[in-house]
Amino acid sequence: MADNVGTFLAKSTVRAADLEHRRKINFNIGKYDAVVPMGKAQFNDVDLVRRRAKNVKWKALETLDQRLEEFEANLVRRGGNVIWAQDAEEALRAIGEICRRHRCKTLVKSKSMVTEEIHLNRFLEENGIESVETDLGEYIQQLDGEPPYHIVTPAMHKSKEDVARLFTEKLNTPPGLSPEELTLVARERLRAKYTEAEVGVTGANFIIADIGGVAVTENEGNARLSLSWPKVHIVVAGIEKVLPSIDDLALFWPLLATYGTGQKVTVYNSIISGPRQPGEMDGPEEMHVILLDNGRTNILADAKARESLYCIRCGACLNACPVYKNIGGHTYGTTYSGPIGSVITPHLSGLGEWKHLSHASSLCGNCTEVCAVKINLHELLLKNRYDATQEGHQGRAERMAWKMWRIASLNRWMMNSGSARIKNWVVSRLFKGWSAHRQELQFPAKTFNQQWRERRRTAEA
Ligand code: SF4
Repeated sequence: MADNVGTFLAKSTVRAADLEHRRKINFNIGKYDAVVPMGKAQFNDVDLVRRRAKNVKWKALETLDQRLEEFEANLVRRGGNVIWAQDAEEALRAIGEICRRHRCKTLVKSKSMVTEEIHLNRFLEENGIESVETDLGEYIQQLDGEPPYHIVTPAMHKSKEDVARLFTEKLNTPPGLSPEELTLVARERLRAKYTEAEVGVTGANFIIADIGGVAVTENEGNARLSLSWPKVHIVVAGIEKVLPSIDDLALFWPLLATYGTGQKVTVYNSIISGPRQPGEMDGPEEMHVILLDNGRTNILADAKARESLYCIRCGACLNACPVYKNIGGHTYGTTYSGPIGSVITPHLSGLGEWKHLSHASSLCGNCTEVCAVKINLHELLLKNRYDATQEGHQGRAERMAWKMWRIASLNRWMMNSGSARIKNWVVSRLFKGWSAHRQELQFPAKTFNQQWRERRRTAEA
């Protein structure tokens, strides 16, 4: 536990002082901020759209068991296979078995946070399978040996010059290539991989119950190639991704595009509802959908935290968060960063080890303000803090400090005794963590009683 907190604080301190990092992030988020209003302009009443979306997700999550079974029945009817995985280990075991059966040597993968969550690439590497990220941002990150920095824009912290240098170092390209040239290099290398790969893996933006389909939305066409070229398509999806009906996409696709990238609709939108059917010209011979729990039912069981499962991973709360903008995505040390990551990680991976993330917030409420589906993120951060205290996850020193604070502040005699200088000294020693990065707490020169007496005397005079 101390390690996670210590690493987080150490990395935050370094990142917050890194002006070059801040410049790149501000530049990229600035571009995002400039286009989001254009996406929003497509809605007559964007607030109503967000409320409706929240309502659809509420309905879907309140009947999650039925929706998932409905999805399974419909997908199986068209020849698909559904695998229920309680945790990462079960999901990886299932993927490993499918790969073994098909003697998979190369696997192509499109961008998917849930495969990051289960550490799929590491697992495949350990099993001698080459896993190729086909999304450009993910490809850059894979070349650099780094996890994604942001849930929508994996290489947001890199400038075009950084990417050109990386390509020169790893792929031997001439130095100083332009973004267009770099894209062509990646494209040429990736094309060959699609034709080699035995298996393609994608995530799912949405799982559609009434048609037994998986909706994937992307801008590069790489997911479409990853899922249609290889003989086997594996989808890894968190169980919360469910939408009741295909009709709901009319609401969710433009909403996700607007809040994710400022587009009206993302460029490529695919719905896959089974493997290749008789008489069809293309598509995989097998389609497997892994429905992953991995702690999500812990969140579902918590009536207040449940709404964090409505998240559509648009990334808007990350872009709006003053803490994220200062410390960056990698500092969190988690798959999901920013406000939504700080809300769900303690539920997915342990409150004791990750409760400090709930304090990585100014509680300004900007995350809640911008959330595409109106999740009360800042209140859920406060709830995590409360839960951590109730479950006794604070350190002994902190518990003692608050106990003494409570005794003193409820005792008028103690509040009135001693000079402000002595009280400042005592409190600063008591709450060392507070004053390490902030101005020391200052008691007023006169106590409340003294001020009150003086005010009454003035009033009576
Ligand atoms: S919590 Fe809301 S704003 Fe943040 S990624 Fe999820 S849907 Fe987007």
